[in-house]
Amino acid sequence: MNATPYKGRFAPSPTGPLHFGSLVAAVASYLQARSRDGQWFLRIEDIDPLREPAGASEQIIRTLQDFGFEWDGELIFQSQRSEHYLAALASLQDQHWTYPCSCSRKQIADHSTSGPYGPIYPGSCRLGPLDATRPCALRLRVTDDEIQFHDAVYGAQQSVLSKDLGDFVLQRADGLFAYQLAVVVDDSLQGITEVVRGSDLLDNTARQIHLHHCLGLSTPDYVHLPLVLNEAGQKLSKQTFAPALDSDARQRLLVAALAFLGQPVPDELASLPLAQIWDHAIHHWSLAAVSPHNRSLSPGIDP
Ligand code: GLU
Repeated sequence: MNATPYKGRFAPSPTGPLHFGSLVAAVASYLQARSRDGQWFLRIEDIDPLREPAGASEQIIRTLQDFGFEWDGELIFQSQRSEHYLAALASLQDQHWTYPCSCSRKQIADHSTSGPYGPIYPGSCRLGPLDATRPCALRLRVTDDEIQFHDAVYGAQQSVLSKDLGDFVLQRADGLFAYQLAVVVDDSLQGITEVVRGSDLLDNTARQIHLHHCLGLSTPDYVHLPLVLNEAGQKLSKQTFAPALDSDARQRLLVAALAFLGQPVPDELASLPLAQIWDHAIHHWSLAAVSPHNRSLSPGIDP
């Protein structure tokens, strides 16, 4: 019997250049796919033009090419896929899963209790928008059911969305689609069998599983990865001024990413040609060697 062919993806938001933390996520998702003879897709999650510096997508694509990543099939840009997101919203609306919400951030802050991810939306507009003259966001109803899933690195996870978060936004009042909607629609349409990404997104997963269920879709498997921290203990990100990946140091950085992921890195590995480093990495890849702990790079390794 044939198992479902593996399909993975890397899905960066072009809010700035890739940094060493992005490389770790890209490498792990690539190796999970290539070590299983699976497919690996690249999807640019450019759904928020206000957060995207000009040229950021092109720079990300060029950097991935410089580092030797080879994606399968068509390169996808979420900015060109509105019709799919609108179709999903229409289907959710037909089933009364969504409703328009006129609440401002301030109104929500004033009328909510605080949960693990911020204010828990109190459902103020569930029976109709409180102020129908304001532009409305679209929210997805959540339930009291416990959502459970198994993460391959972090183990058993559970969340009751009504207690942790409340109904959440799928389309903003300015019309932009929310990440939760676009990521679920595309993971499903692309037939992604396993999502591999940073553990900063672990707590988004229950929302995405709920949305898959509301749309009648099966869910992928999930692997979340430890985060790379800077010397101040902060996650590498644009906000913490993480340096852009330097393509001239690709071998050294690729080997540092493998070491961060707990993979074997013989002394001479960084001096080999890029293709040989990838061959080595694919043949020795072991997800079991990835430790769940966020940490900085070993002293002496400069991303
Ligand atoms: N676009 C998201 C980001 O760059 C990642 C989405 C995902 O992997 O699910 O943070």
